[in-house]
Amino acid sequence: MTAESKAKVRYERPIIRKMNSGLMNKFGTRTEYAPTSHIDSVPVKRIIQEYGSPCFVISERTLRKTYQSALRAFKTRYPKVQFAWSYKTNYIDAVCNVFHQEGSWAEVVSGFEYEKAIRNGVPGNKIIFNGPDKSTDELKRAIENESLIHIDHFDELYDLIEITETSKKKAKVAIRVNMDVGVYPLWDRFGFNYESYQAWQAIVKIMNCDRMELVGLHCHIGTFMLTSNAYSVAASKLCDLAYNIKLKWNKSIQYLDLGGGFASTNTLRGSYLPGSDSSPGFDDYAEAITSTILNFGFKQEDLPLLILETGRAMVDDAGYLLGTVLANKRLSDGRRATIMDFGVNILFTAFWYEHKISPAQEFTHHTEEMVVYGPLCMNIDKIRESVSLPLLSRGDHVVVHKVGAYNMTQWMQFIAMRPNVVMIDAKGEVHKIRERETIDTLTGLELKPDHLKTFKL
Ligand SMILES: *Cc1c(COP(=O)(O)O)cnc(C)c1O
Repeated sequence: MTAESKAKVRYERPIIRKMNSGLMNKFGTRTEYAPTSHIDSVPVKRIIQEYGSPCFVISERTLRKTYQSALRAFKTRYPKVQFAWSYKTNYIDAVCNVFHQEGSWAEVVSGFEYEKAIRNGVPGNKIIFNGPDKSTDELKRAIENESLIHIDHFDELYDLIEITETSKKKAKVAIRVNMDVGVYPLWDRFGFNYESYQAWQAIVKIMNCDRMELVGLHCHIGTFMLTSNAYSVAASKLCDLAYNIKLKWNKSIQYLDLGGGFASTNTLRGSYLPGSDSSPGFDDYAEAITSTILNFGFKQEDLPLLILETGRAMVDDAGYLLGTVLANKRLSDGRRATIMDFGVNILFTAFWYEHKISPAQEFTHHTEEMVVYGPLCMNIDKIRESVSLPLLSRGDHVVVHKVGAYNMTQWMQFIAMRPNVVMIDAKGEVHKIRERETIDTLTGLELKPDHLKTFKL
């Protein structure tokens, strides 16, 4: 035996660590989670009993309140404002129709979304058709309906020139412009570039085609933009294009569309400050955009309509995900892990956000740093990497906050069905707005060739 292998294995004494209850965190606030036992006065427990767990909940009251405060921020600063609801952020019909009732147009990025807006009853001329993928048939239909077609690239522009040669109506078009707004990496894959004069070239081509009318200029500079200054840069570049169009052709552009991208109050993964402290808020964004346009030098009668396609910041706060604790376990390194009955399959934004999770019932004030997992048999299925939560027991319910944006459109069907979505109306009544999927939802789409219908084992 060598000396080395004879060396004793080092012994470390087990330690008993005091559980921290309600200690200060780095922001000087107590790591304490008040239970979220009710949403808009409706008991979480009742919703789970009636609609199952997990279950998405949308607060109609919060949707309307958020819309109205966004509108107010812009309307009080600028004479002509129009919101267009970004369908891809949440295209459940009931959600879209709340925004349409409030006065929002529709902003769609695919033929499917376009069809959805039409079926919801949005007039064709109040649909903005964005995105790089519009088929010839979809473009024809959009021209017929007098929708606002936002051209993304030269190939689409050439398609339109060809289509409008034979169409009865002129096409109402805008171009999407991408530009350097001081936020990197640049979003230059959509639309025509401003700095390289590509956008101007597209404008020249459109202005020389008498079957198309250039009605607007559009940009969407990114998503979750934490600086409102980027919007004043974007607005001034769109104004510059509009101004030069006026100079060269004596044509006033009807609208400037500043797109979406305002940050919600969610906390991005790895960020130092909580989202509620780092998000600029509607007033800041509105001030940056409207003061730039107002100061640019348009004549009063030439001031363009200002369109906004705010998605995330409009709907995030109104969405909740209710779930249930399946199990607790200790990982090999001693960390506590809690497994929930919802995973990244339905909470896609867990990849980007540190979602706030609250217990839905009274709890012990002993907290512990823990990992929160979903139920998928996949290593990536982590809801929170590390979060200080009170100890939850099997069967306890939790509420995940601010999940209204992008989850109910980006969710994926993987080993489980998508759950019910309900909406609590302003009177506190609960309505189912999307049915939970069943095995038939899926197998109904499958076909078995004759020779694969049976087998013997
Ligand atoms: C996704 C998208 C929006 C909405 O963006 P948010 O970041 O959710 O506000 C608006 N306009 C266009 C063109 C989009 O693609």
